[in-house]
Amino acid sequence: MAAAAAAASASAASSGGGRRRRVLMFPLPFQGHLNPMLQLAGALHARGGGLVGITVFHATFNAPNPARHPPGYRFVPVGEGLPSADLIPSGSDADFAGALGRINDRLREPFRDLLRQALADAEDDEAAACLVVDSNLRGIQLVAEELGVPTLVLRTGGAACLVAYMAFPALCDKGLLPPASQDKVQLDMPLDELTPLRLRDMVFSRTTTHANMRRCLQDLLDAGSSSSGIILNTFQDLENSDVQKISNGLGVPLYTIGPLHKISSGTEGSLLAQDQTCLKWLDKQEADSVLYVSFGSLASMDEKEMLETAWGLANSQMPFLWVIRHNMVKSSHQMSIPEGFEEATRGRGMVVTWAPQQEVLGHHAIGGFWTHNGWNSTLESICEGVPMICRPQFADQMINMRYVQEVWKIGFEIEGELERGEIEMAIKKLLCTEEGRQMRLRAKDLQDKAVKCIEEEGSSKSAMESLLKRIMSF
Ligand code: UDP
Repeated sequence: MAAAAAAASASAASSGGGRRRRVLMFPLPFQGHLNPMLQLAGALHARGGGLVGITVFHATFNAPNPARHPPGYRFVPVGEGLPSADLIPSGSDADFAGALGRINDRLREPFRDLLRQALADAEDDEAAACLVVDSNLRGIQLVAEELGVPTLVLRTGGAACLVAYMAFPALCDKGLLPPASQDKVQLDMPLDELTPLRLRDMVFSRTTTHANMRRCLQDLLDAGSSSSGIILNTFQDLENSDVQKISNGLGVPLYTIGPLHKISSGTEGSLLAQDQTCLKWLDKQEADSVLYVSFGSLASMDEKEMLETAWGLANSQMPFLWVIRHNMVKSSHQMSIPEGFEEATRGRGMVVTWAPQQEVLGHHAIGGFWTHNGWNSTLESICEGVPMICRPQFADQMINMRYVQEVWKIGFEIEGELERGEIEMAIKKLLCTEEGRQMRLRAKDLQDKAVKCIEEEGSSKSAMESLLKRIMSF
């Protein structure tokens, strides 16, 4: 690893003439977007051979903690004193596209002043190379363009999702989106160009208006196509054909450098304290025996779903580690574990409010992951060879689920209303049957491929070197 980093830094230094450069970054202020951006920062900093400084511009809510990062990083809060309550969508019913529009509108003006200041203050021997911006921050990218700063776009989702977003305008023009009715036959209509996706997988939010959704996705595509390159947190052997489609469709260089959390430590961006005690508890469990249950940082459940989940876990008789976030249950601020649940699961279940997820998934005791299929969770599971029970809710989660179930065949969806008997059966299927074992074997195969991609000569490793060269050449 040290030799590889040294080689990369020698190559970065040669392409930049040995000059020090500063990479400016602007993550979207949500856990699933902060993590990959900060992992990218870590990878560039470590491989830049002392020549790459990092400046992170960030919203004042969900802000990263500067104390968790090495010297050489600068953190610049943007929009201090601005109201932020309506910028944080909470739960699966929230209007995400609306919140994204407001975040761009509100941060844009204060960012202009701060970017101007940063450019004026830049020391001669450490000029700003470029801004790496989250693909949802088109407004921020426009400010950089205006001030003459080149931009690279970080897509924190998978390649298949970006291909689906690219197809969205044409599906609208054909009159397929928004769906004319909630009729099951219509929603299940397969989309020929996007196999294995169906029309229902393209309905990204129940509450966002179609106009907002269309504008939001157009901004995202404009951000990609007007950038100097798109950085993808995936790997070639996982999504090769979709990576090719993006390359052909958007006409800018692609840097497919994932899985990011495997080339840079992934925990310094956690907004919530991770309960490490669960790792000790996992040490006492048998290999491949425990179901890890977590639905990421934003998805939520109502009281009834919570109850069914609890009794499904209890009745399965299988060991589990369950993350119940403080705001997991809609319209309640308390963890509502049903009466009798603790007794029924004593000794074989553990509940935490936030877990060190990557370490949990990498623990030999974990046999399966019941997930909402956020892209980070999906990729983290693949990288540890862990098969999945899928319960997607919104955004790209349905797309990720379809790939897990239909393409990689490393998991399956629990559909419809959550019901304890169905949950019990799903858990047993994943952990105790030959079908589940085959899913685990296929997941382990993908894990091996992920490892190869970041090794010497691997596709992600080469893409990372090209990215560093590009950055040093700006
Ligand atoms: N995560 C974590 N602890 C938890 C649950 C999640 O550290 O208990 C991390 C997880 O490793 C992942 C991120 O939070 O990197 C969630 O991102 P994802 O894209 O899966 O879902 P989102 O939160 O964006 O819906």
